[in-house]
Amino acid sequence: MDGHTLAIGGVGAIREVRHPVSVARAMLDETPILLVGEGARQFATHIGAEPADAGSIPSPGGCDTVGCIARDQAGHVAAAGSTGGLEGKMVGRVGDTPLPGCGLYADDRAGATALSGEGESIARGMLAAHILFALPGNGALAAAQMAITRLERTGGEAGAIVLDSDGGFGIAHNSAQFSVAVAADWLDAPRAGTHADDLREWYT
Ligand code: ASP
Repeated sequence: MDGHTLAIGGVGAIREVRHPVSVARAMLDETPILLVGEGARQFATHIGAEPADAGSIPSPGGCDTVGCIARDQAGHVAAAGSTGGLEGKMVGRVGDTPLPGCGLYADDRAGATALSGEGESIARGMLAAHILFALPGNGALAAAQMAITRLERTGGEAGAIVLDSDGGFGIAHNSAQFSVAVAADWLDAPRAGTHADDLREWYT
């Protein structure tokens, strides 16, 4: 999602491409915001997306998630996510990851967020939307914490990374661990950790 134009692209239930997030990126200039299954595959072919190696196609149960948010020097923000879903879910399930207002959102006027965790709970709580609405008055850390607190109503484990429009960031999660990394022009080197507290000295 492009926070400057509010353009959105998403693909779901796609196995044949090496970088589904690049297919989603190519959709930013198109009218649809979410294509799944055969439609996603056809769009990937149309843009000449790099095919997946046979060995890199996730096996059933193979799932990992990466969420990323960024702000450039002009103050434009963006968010992206890519996931293999969650083990044991129904065939055809699409979780929160490609759904704006659920697994991600970006708006230059407020900031950006990406979430990972139990998609049904993230979607039921509209966590990304709540973060974006909370950002202006509360800042990145409080907005992240308020969203994670909403999980008390639905259950489920999740974590959120949040950027405000000035480049401040916050992280919150109710899972025991949450892998995070940050890079910024004011940091001498990228930092990474497996818990929000590992990066605590770098955000307010
Ligand atoms: N949120 C993803 C989903 O429910 C999974 C994850 O973040 O690990 O599909």
